Amino acid sequence: MTRFNLASRLKISHLLFYSHLLLVMWLVFTMSYNRYNSEWSTRISHAVELARAVSNPIVDLVSLSASGRNYTNIRLNNALALYASSDRLLFFTVQAQSDFSEHEYSFAWSRELGDAFRTNLTFEDRLAQQIEIEALEQRLNTAGSDDVKLNFLLNRGKELLQRIEEDMGHTKQYCPQFKRITAIDDYYLDEDNAQLLLKQDLRNVAGGEIILSFDATPLLNVKSDIQFQLLKEASLAFLFSLLLIIWATRRIVKPLKNIALQMNRDVKDIDFTGEPEIERKDELGVVVRSLDSLAKKVQLQIVELEKRSAIDSLTGLGSRFLYESVKADFVAQTRRQGKYLGFLICDLDNFKAFNDMYGHPEGDRVLRRAGLTVQSALKRDTDGAYRLGGEEFIVLLQTQSAEDIQQIAVQLCAQLEGLEIEHLGNPGHLVLTLSIGVVCAKGVDLDSNVSMDQIYELADKALYRAKDSGRNAINVVHWKNGKEVINE
Ligand code: GH3
Ligand code: MG
Ligand code: MG
Repeated sequence: MTRFNLASRLKISHLLFYSHLLLVMWLVFTMSYNRYNSEWSTRISHAVELARAVSNPIVDLVSLSASGRNYTNIRLNNALALYASSDRLLFFTVQAQSDFSEHEYSFAWSRELGDAFRTNLTFEDRLAQQIEIEALEQRLNTAGSDDVKLNFLLNRGKELLQRIEEDMGHTKQYCPQFKRITAIDDYYLDEDNAQLLLKQDLRNVAGGEIILSFDATPLLNVKSDIQFQLLKEASLAFLFSLLLIIWATRRIVKPLKNIALQMNRDVKDIDFTGEPEIERKDELGVVVRSLDSLAKKVQLQIVELEKRSAIDSLTGLGSRFLYESVKADFVAQTRRQGKYLGFLICDLDNFKAFNDMYGHPEGDRVLRRAGLTVQSALKRDTDGAYRLGGEEFIVLLQTQSAEDIQQIAVQLCAQLEGLEIEHLGNPGHLVLTLSIGVVCAKGVDLDSNVSMDQIYELADKALYRAKDSGRNAINVVHWKNGKEVINE
């Protein structure tokens, strides 16, 4: 069962990239957020301090008036001018207790209205005033009364009633929208209505409070400015970090991919010489130089091994390995050159018996001499002789004619026999002989599908026939138009 292993599936580049990205995002966000918070709270504190300073003269005036429950003071022109000149003050409301009576003292001021008005008037107050006016009117109708004084009182009573009605109307109009301000502790920034609300205690003995509402539009504009500025800085920081991450990732990951690409090539082809990483002074440079030196060592060893494995150590002929690596090229080359291809399998006759009679060391010496004889059969640089194993040799020839091949094979048999190496276990010859299976093929008959293995198979069959014919013999196969033609 395959277990899903996330860590092994994520690429280093992705890990580096995303972890850094997250880290940068987190850093940028927290730094910006903290800066925003501290900057913003500083601005609010300043605004509150300013509001407090602005409200202090009003608090003094109102505290005095509250103490004596004096509603006239707070409506005098200079008082109204003080409120109006208070920077950004929109509205304030007062709730207090008179120092000399149980009466509540409350009023409000609105910049929009441009006036102050009592806020605790009730229908009973209005009714009481109306009754007082009616009583005065009755008295005025009664004969003998002091008309002047009564008229004065009546007019004042009517003015008062008008004032009561006006104040009740203003309370109804302006106060509901400021009701929420009574819930604040010290100050409250009402962003929805762009108002800064500030609560101050009154200084009269019985106590009370004034809640002032200031226009917070400039403050909120500053807030947007701070946000915009921080957003700009955070975006820049983020962009810069992102570029830095991309650069760093590329600086590590791209070279790693390059190294992997090189290491995937055939060992012989690995070459870091042209790669920029090899010049680097950092750890990657060290790794690349080490890999380069390792690759070069391995390449030298491969060359050495190939050299060794190309030569048969006993006879000095080409090895089976060399034969395997040249055979395909040899066929193709012969076809291109339009020459004849000669394929000879040479096998010493009754060599087992030789070993049995004269011993293996002697057998080796004889094998070496046989090898030299086979070697001497080569006429051109393109020809090759290989010891395939045991007492079996292969000779590859390129000749101008099929007769040349046959002739070389005959000569080879004769040459070995001519060495007159005693071999009493080789009946009928009593000297060392060899048999050869020969394949002759015209280059043009070898189409690109013909392989040396097919030719080898034919030659091997020919060798058997040569052995069967009494040994010290050759058997020739002609490859003509893709067919074999046997020729003893
Ligand atoms: P044939 O004529 O049918 O080829 O008979 P043969 O005895 O030559 O053939 P066989 O395949 O039966 O025996 C080959 C012998 O070659 C067996 C082994 O003793 C000998 N031989 C193989 N390699 C070496 C070697 O490296 N050194 C020596 N001294 N003998 C070897
Ligand atoms: Mg053999
Ligand atoms: Mg043999």
